[in-house]
Amino acid sequence: MTTLDTKRGAIAAAAPEPDEETGQFAAPEGEPHVHMGWVERWVNLAFVIVPAVLVAFAIASLWGVGVGWLHVVLMLGMGSATILGVSVGYHRLFAHRAFKTTASVRVALAIIGAMAAEGTVRRFVANHRRHHSHSDRDGDPHSPHTHEEHGVRGAVKGFWHAHIGWFTDKYREHPSEEKYAPEFCVPSGVKMVDESNGLWVMVGLIIPTVISGLWYQSWFAAGLGLLWGGVVRIFLVHHITWSVNSVCHLWGSRPFKSGDHARNNFIMGFIGMGEGWHNNHHAFPNSSRCGLKWWQFDAGWCVIWTLKKLGLAWDVRVPHEKRLAAAAQ
Ligand SMILES: [Zn+2]
Ligand SMILES: [Zn+2]
Repeated sequence: MTTLDTKRGAIAAAAPEPDEETGQFAAPEGEPHVHMGWVERWVNLAFVIVPAVLVAFAIASLWGVGVGWLHVVLMLGMGSATILGVSVGYHRLFAHRAFKTTASVRVALAIIGAMAAEGTVRRFVANHRRHHSHSDRDGDPHSPHTHEEHGVRGAVKGFWHAHIGWFTDKYREHPSEEKYAPEFCVPSGVKMVDESNGLWVMVGLIIPTVISGLWYQSWFAAGLGLLWGGVVRIFLVHHITWSVNSVCHLWGSRPFKSGDHARNNFIMGFIGMGEGWHNNHHAFPNSSRCGLKWWQFDAGWCVIWTLKKLGLAWDVRVPHEKRLAAAAQ
């Protein structure tokens, strides 16, 4: 049991406690599951297929229509912001409790993360805690290593499952949110954001549409803002996030003993805002910092460091030298 202090008062929730030393969450007894309904499965499939089709349309439109500098800025700016919302908010703060912050910052991170169109905090947290407690073993929701086939066919199947298949498969079951992420199932600001998740996805589409329309004073430009700052941006953010699950459990270095196949992938480290230093992360899951060397760029850590300097983050966890040395291989 833990007690969470929020602006709405102290709320008692049977939240799982991570191991103080390792930061790992143990799986709840019985490993409860909930079957995914067909509506959710088709919504998930739509979020894979529709952006991909519209990206093809956007690329085709480069011949003739082209793309304005503002659209590139909107795509990169909103892309970076929403990846950080997921990385700093959904992942490091909500799933791992790697630092503490104010109720307003928690809500702001939940809103920015929701604009990435990757679902609710409580669903993310439940899947992610289960991923860590079963990493690359039976029960891991999105490991590329838990299929039975070998060779090229097995590798392709594993990659597909870890990247997309795990949330579009017909017989998919979710880890129970009440058991794996109970602190997000009781009233709080973050739960209110979760309950209006679709609204925030829409806001994330409307922002680039309005900015582009007003800047260029045309409806056509508004449409291009929606396309590049909204849909193409969501497509890129999705595949970067999903690559942490697929690419970062397949290719890269393993400087630390993490007990699984998690790897540090240089490219994903940069474009994933620090999430691609995934072997570091699996070795020290409750660390606020994923890029542990000076050259391992970690934009998420830059955000947390800045929040700390502003007095908006505290109890910021980073592994001690002793733990780093003990886990090195
Ligand atoms: Zn992982
Ligand atoms: Zn994690």
